[in-house]
Amino acid sequence: MALDHSRSTEVFGHARTVIPGGVNSPVRAFSNVGIDPVFYDRAQGAQVWDIDGNAYLDFICSWGPMIFGHGDPEILDAVRCQLDRGVSFGAPCEAEVRLADLICSVAPGVEEVRMVSSGTEATMTAIRLARGCTGRDKIIKFQGNYHGHSDSLLVSAGSGVATLGIPDTPGVTAATASDTMVATYNNLDSVRSLFEAAPDQVACVIVEPVSGNMGVVAPQEGFLRGLRDLCDQFGALLIMDEVITGFRVALGGAQQLFGVSADLCTYGKIIGGGFPVGCVAGRERFMSNLAPAGSVYQAGTLSGNPVAMEAGLAQIRKLAREADRLYPQLQRKSDVLFGGLRDAASQAGVQVQVNALGSVGTVFFTPDPVVDWQTAARSDRDAFAVYFRAMLDQGLLIAPSQFEAVFLSDAHTDQHLQAFLAAARTAFAQVAN
Ligand code: PLP
Repeated sequence: MALDHSRSTEVFGHARTVIPGGVNSPVRAFSNVGIDPVFYDRAQGAQVWDIDGNAYLDFICSWGPMIFGHGDPEILDAVRCQLDRGVSFGAPCEAEVRLADLICSVAPGVEEVRMVSSGTEATMTAIRLARGCTGRDKIIKFQGNYHGHSDSLLVSAGSGVATLGIPDTPGVTAATASDTMVATYNNLDSVRSLFEAAPDQVACVIVEPVSGNMGVVAPQEGFLRGLRDLCDQFGALLIMDEVITGFRVALGGAQQLFGVSADLCTYGKIIGGGFPVGCVAGRERFMSNLAPAGSVYQAGTLSGNPVAMEAGLAQIRKLAREADRLYPQLQRKSDVLFGGLRDAASQAGVQVQVNALGSVGTVFFTPDPVVDWQTAARSDRDAFAVYFRAMLDQGLLIAPSQFEAVFLSDAHTDQHLQAFLAAARTAFAQVAN
């Protein structure tokens, strides 16, 4: 029997009169899964409760930040302690230096860090910096990769843009879009062709080193190394957008996992411990071009906010301290969950591809391997919507889109994983009917 969402539906009805579409980020509206969104009330560990009092197991984890689950005591203590000392200074504080130190010490190739307040700001700044450093205008991105909602990065984007099927966003000028060249993920030839079409004009290649925003798609053997080589050959910067992968696929992110260093990289999500934080980071020779050290301008009233810095610091310290236990455990959970999902789908006679890497994964409703946007887009979104609604009815929260990831956290127990698999068996049976 479906859960009672009457209060959520009522609040959503009102929300639509004061907030465009009723939500402050489009995918939250649940529009492509055919129901009204659930409004959250509170969260603890691996659970969230909605305003109707329904409890859910949370496999969204705030879209990645909550790697220790909700309400981690160390993070909350750090936040509480800072609240008493001031919530915003608009001035330097020690915590931002400590957090920058910590990021430099664990992320390969990172020598300097500039804090901002979101992943979008981080990638936007990285692009501007790459342009400023090279004196070139064009950038290369990948179809189905999402780097936030700044104009030049919304072209052929994943995540909500793909979910809502918005090909080109009104408001992004043709001139801006024309400086964004779009390549095919996992296809080095497509990148080489773009470089050859605009020699000496490409400032950077920006890539999700593991795609999370067309659903999870891992880089094929040699892909990231090949990008590194092409960037070196054509004098462009390589930007790895580690907003999802940073501190998640390994302590040192995808750059550590795959042994390929970027010139600039971006973090978000996990580094804020649940608060709005992002950063652009990288080699000193590039980073030192940012104002006031250099002339590429970037700023922010709330950048390096002390509460957010303390939260991030507590989370990254705990990750660093527990890395030897945590990352192998997340991998084991991933094997249980995503392996179990493959078996469950096959037993129900539903053809899926389950892509997973470490603690992120996606069930694609398609018989063919998913390696890029073209293959991801072949997924049966109606089947996904049936699966999503069946999971929600059973108290399992997953992202309301085919083109997002399931996130695992330290708070998920074996029991939670088994509950997910039991619910998925019912959901797959409904898809099969
Ligand atoms: N880059 C990647 C890889 C992301 O997944 C996201 C958001 O999901 C962003 C950038 C943008 O981050 P934010 O939503 O904090 O602006």
